[in-house]
Amino acid sequence: MNAPIMTQAALEIWLTNLLPDHTVIAPQPQGQQIVFAPLAQVSDIAWDAGRTDLSAKEFFLPASEAIITLRPSTGGLQVETTHLTRPQVIFGARPCDGHALEVLDRLFLDDPVDVYYAERRAMTTMVGLACSDGPWTGCFCTALGGGPSDRTHLDILLTACDGGFAVDVVTDKGRALLEAGAAVLASADVALPEPPAVTDLHLPDMTAWRAAFNAPYWAELAERCLGCRTCTYDCPVCYCFDVRDRVMGDGSIERLRCWDSCQGALCFAIAGGHNPRPTQAARQRQRYMHKFLYYPEREGAALCVGCGRCVEQCPVNIDIREVIGFVAANNRAAAAEVQS
Ligand code: SF4
Ligand code: SF4
Repeated sequence: MNAPIMTQAALEIWLTNLLPDHTVIAPQPQGQQIVFAPLAQVSDIAWDAGRTDLSAKEFFLPASEAIITLRPSTGGLQVETTHLTRPQVIFGARPCDGHALEVLDRLFLDDPVDVYYAERRAMTTMVGLACSDGPWTGCFCTALGGGPSDRTHLDILLTACDGGFAVDVVTDKGRALLEAGAAVLASADVALPEPPAVTDLHLPDMTAWRAAFNAPYWAELAERCLGCRTCTYDCPVCYCFDVRDRVMGDGSIERLRCWDSCQGALCFAIAGGHNPRPTQAARQRQRYMHKFLYYPEREGAALCVGCGRCVEQCPVNIDIREVIGFVAANNRAAAAEVQS
């Protein structure tokens, strides 16, 4: 097929041209991990890293952020709110990272709109990279309606090909970004690689999740779970947060929004000390029921994009695909019992 392409050199020049006016966020090594981080220079990009260990969620919903600051001033308090000051570009996002934003938009952009998320979303352009170099440990995006070359939730999708990258401009925002960095595109006959096969897993319907609510399986999972929260913090769509106020040394007060996790023992505790989910079994069940029953009931889509990060990073190898497999098998067994 004849497609617009960018050579590797042209791509690097384009990104360099964007740096003065944009925060370009791209996969880079950090300790033992590959994470999305603001780019100082294009040579820092981890080009062959595959899927990042952490998602790009923190650039839309930071792990910890002072959303409002009250500062003493003559005659009262001065109110400062947090704003993004520069447009940002997420470069090297995978199709599941784009899909994750579509899932989060349902929550944060619905009435009442979360102004902090909405501002970041409006000021961010997603430049994706098709997963022709995947899949990686735990990937099951196709079971959630995504795919390794899914373009729908990105602004630009690049696909590695002979001579550089085929450039698929998905949105006007993507086109504007190409122009902003004076991208040099050529046109060439390219054979795009076949997207890799990902999984044959199928998601059970909501009835199956409801039927599994009282299964002893959740207690078995909980015996392994350490409650470390890794699975929720590395997830691109887990969005739970807490809001706290703290008094600073100069007398100002910061209202902080910080990530929370359903896998923490005190996540559900309320005033008076009552905890409606006092056991790890209840909290494990909540994690999966929220993703595949409660959120779809409310928002019309699963709270999971099948990125596989939680599979790869759980220290005790709890695998969400096995949980899905259990719920499906439990449902088949219940149906067989009814028929017999
Ligand atoms: S990463 Fe694994 S051990 Fe840690 S809270 Fe999640 S399921 Fe439990
Ligand atoms: S639950 Fe696991 S597989 Fe699903 S989006 Fe979150 S980290 Fe990825």
